[in-house]
Amino acid sequence: MSLIVQKYGGTSVGDIDRIQAVAERVIATRNAGHSVVVVLSAIGGETDRLLSLAYDIDPKAAGRELDVLLSTGEQVTIALLSMALEAKGSLAQSFTGAQITIHTDNSHNKARIMKIDAERVNAALEAGRIPVIAGFQGIDEDGNITTLGRGGTDTTAVAMAAALKADECHIYTDVDGVYTADPRIVEKARRIERIAYEEMLEMASLGSKVLQIRSVEFASKYNISLRVLSSFVEGPGTLITAEDESMEEVLIAGIAHNRDEAKLTIRGVPDTPGMASKILGPIAEANIEVDMIIQNIGDDDSTSFTFTVHRNDYDKAKSILELTSKDLNAGGVEGDDNIAKISVVGVGMRSHAGIASQMFAALAEEGINIQMISTSEIKISVVVDDKYLELGVRALHSAFGLDQGDN
Ligand code: ADP
Ligand code: ASP
Ligand code: MG
Repeated sequence: MSLIVQKYGGTSVGDIDRIQAVAERVIATRNAGHSVVVVLSAIGGETDRLLSLAYDIDPKAAGRELDVLLSTGEQVTIALLSMALEAKGSLAQSFTGAQITIHTDNSHNKARIMKIDAERVNAALEAGRIPVIAGFQGIDEDGNITTLGRGGTDTTAVAMAAALKADECHIYTDVDGVYTADPRIVEKARRIERIAYEEMLEMASLGSKVLQIRSVEFASKYNISLRVLSSFVEGPGTLITAEDESMEEVLIAGIAHNRDEAKLTIRGVPDTPGMASKILGPIAEANIEVDMIIQNIGDDDSTSFTFTVHRNDYDKAKSILELTSKDLNAGGVEGDDNIAKISVVGVGMRSHAGIASQMFAALAEEGINIQMISTSEIKISVVVDDKYLELGVRALHSAFGLDQGDN
């Protein structure tokens, strides 16, 4: 008998009918001879609703009390699904993160899972009960409720699968797999049959929010067989797995995009050693992560320095940079939060030259100006004006032969 962890996201538990449908699927999986552990998100939109309540009181709400609030969303669905399972004649038992226990560090709102005690869940399974676990939450060593960051239920599910040594982890969502691009933007996007952990990790990091980044890290570290499936339609979904040779043959696995970043430039900085650290040091001290960086040498002895940060950190980073500009007697600061990042990802890139030039040519053909570029072994990212995001993603999707109907 195999053990399967099934995770259902917000739309999959979006209302009572959907919760009943989840109960049916869980029971059907059991009837097919498997052991099932369920991990749930809050009802779709609930986490946003709770957040906006908090922001109505304090626009900067964060930390401990926000976690107490946000974690309630998942407590509602685990109780409802457990009731639905029981009403259909199965034994079930709901668990909050604290009840299991899911131990995390103490970074409220973006905590990391450190350890999971599997005893209570195993005991429930042995007693013939279906464990129904609240995703997205845990507790720190002082017993405070923590949450794992948006999309965190994916990570709870994969970490749970690792702790239970489950045979498979199934992520049920509103799309029937991982696509070559966000199907909401690219109509011709195709479902990917199999994708390497490393590619999926890049896709997730670069904005494909179908899986939370940490969930893919866990899956890769513990070699969890992870499948993304639709809770609305039957189908094989997408298997996320270790890389093999056949994957190398595919040049580009997919196109990712994100609108989460903003760009800052400091001009007229003296071109002397130590400048980058003087500029980025105070940003790092404020706990702001920097993503892409470029430095341009001007005609005189000065340079300009541009970098991107998360849009949420934009205002804070801009004020810090303005102080730095005064300190360094630099030429001032400019910012732009109307940018988007588009990336092409694929392990096949390792053994092929010319992808970057093909990418830049496709964007040029659409008249899209590239503002910044960064590359790694298996991805190339560009920053463009936000208004070109859709056009750029679709152009690249076609240029790399990913459109449905192409081979
Ligand atoms: P859930 O609530 O089930 O966790 P999410 O909204 O977090 O669902 O993730 C599913 C969504 O991810 C899809 O509706 C889709 O718009 C988006 N998405 C972004 N990139 C991709 C991709 N490459 N493949 C599939 N879905 C993607
Ligand atoms: N409910 C949380 C969110 O909306 C966690 C999740 O759904 O994965 O981000
Ligand atoms: Mg999600």
